[in-house]
Amino acid sequence: MRTDKKHSKIWLIAILCLMIGVPGGWFLWGRLEKEKPAINLNLHSSHLGRSQEFTLAVSDAKSGLRRLWVGLLKNGQEAVLYDEKFPSAGFFKGGTVHETSAKIQIEPAVLGFADGEAILRTVVSDYSWRDWWKGNTTYTEKKVVIDTRPPEIEVLSRAHNINRGGAGLVIFRTSETCSQGGVQVGDSFYPGHTGFFNDPNVYLAFIALGYQQGTDTAIVVKVADLAGNDAKSGLNYHLRRKVFRQDRLNITDGFLKQKIPNFSLQASQDTNASLVDKFLKINRDLREANYQKIAEACRNADSKMHWQGKFLRLPKSATRAKFADHRVYFYKGKEIDRQVHMGIDLASVARSTVPAANAGIVILAEDLGIYGKTVIVDHGFGLFSMYAHLSLIGVKVGEQLSKGDILGRTGVTGLAGGDHLHFSMLVHDTFINPVEWWDAKWIQHNVVSKIERVGTGMKRE
Ligand SMILES: [Zn+2]
Repeated sequence: MRTDKKHSKIWLIAILCLMIGVPGGWFLWGRLEKEKPAINLNLHSSHLGRSQEFTLAVSDAKSGLRRLWVGLLKNGQEAVLYDEKFPSAGFFKGGTVHETSAKIQIEPAVLGFADGEAILRTVVSDYSWRDWWKGNTTYTEKKVVIDTRPPEIEVLSRAHNINRGGAGLVIFRTSETCSQGGVQVGDSFYPGHTGFFNDPNVYLAFIALGYQQGTDTAIVVKVADLAGNDAKSGLNYHLRRKVFRQDRLNITDGFLKQKIPNFSLQASQDTNASLVDKFLKINRDLREANYQKIAEACRNADSKMHWQGKFLRLPKSATRAKFADHRVYFYKGKEIDRQVHMGIDLASVARSTVPAANAGIVILAEDLGIYGKTVIVDHGFGLFSMYAHLSLIGVKVGEQLSKGDILGRTGVTGLAGGDHLHFSMLVHDTFINPVEWWDAKWIQHNVVSKIERVGTGMKRE
């Protein structure tokens, strides 16, 4: 009897222990979880300028967030950028906030920090009971460079004489490594490229004055360093006035009947539209879409000078239309449209072979709307040549061409009325007058002599 009683007591204690112990253990296991909070720091650059804002996302799925602390440290100096304690739902329950993000502003000078290396430290903890109720803690430290001084610019090239619709070259040096450097010409920005000279802070920037830009257009060198400090510098320049021709083009029914069906897929699907309406849609909308495609193709110029000497003109050809001819289109004696011709039309015998005007890499070789079969060659540092209305393309994208290599044959594709080559040149996304690049003297004065004057430390193959 006594042993039976004793046994049942033990059983009772055991059952009680299980009833309390299992859920209790389960609870403790949960409150002692060891998953650390997560931090996602979104800093644009490790270089800190005069003022920047960054976002910090923190999360803790299990116990919830307890505290977030962010500070900047430099040579024993410390500044608190952010310190927040998050609420708890009660001793047994953990935190109420599981994820949040903070916007943090840093202005080093306001905090009393001088330029130089510093540490951005982040500490975030949760409501776990680990580490004697201090919780799981995640630390991150990021090396940053405080740089509040704008870079200095030294313009190395002189005498920038630029024709309306023409090109120019600006060479400048920055006092420190920059993330961006180039030349602003009115509304257009021409990125500069390093890599031509041994000095990594010397930039070479081909620029252009668009055919529509006036001689009062402002030209300024603009740079920004890795911390986002920007600087501007003026330069000596002289812009030359140029008047472009007016040209009258008669659009005939014969031309429309011959050309419009080729565009059936690209132009309006409206079968009721007249041929003239379809022509206008092609001449306006498709022309603009084709330009966007060209600009896109010319966006990432190669930082290598592929070309040398004057550019080749289609051999034994006559000029049929000039750069920036202001064309007025007539149909049955009535004006229907106006467009500007962004290249030079050269006519030789039909299906003449077309040489690459200079060495470069093929970046586009395809049927391009109003331009028909088209090839674009990247000559490096933002200079491009374009060959349109070809009957045959003989090269592929990525192919390296030497000056004079045959890239296709002339033709009448696109909106061409007769067999000819439409030859264009561009500086980045601006069409320029090719005549300058056919002229060895112009190249000598405006490009080669400028590079030679800067001279020392020049890298050239
Ligand atoms: Zn043309």
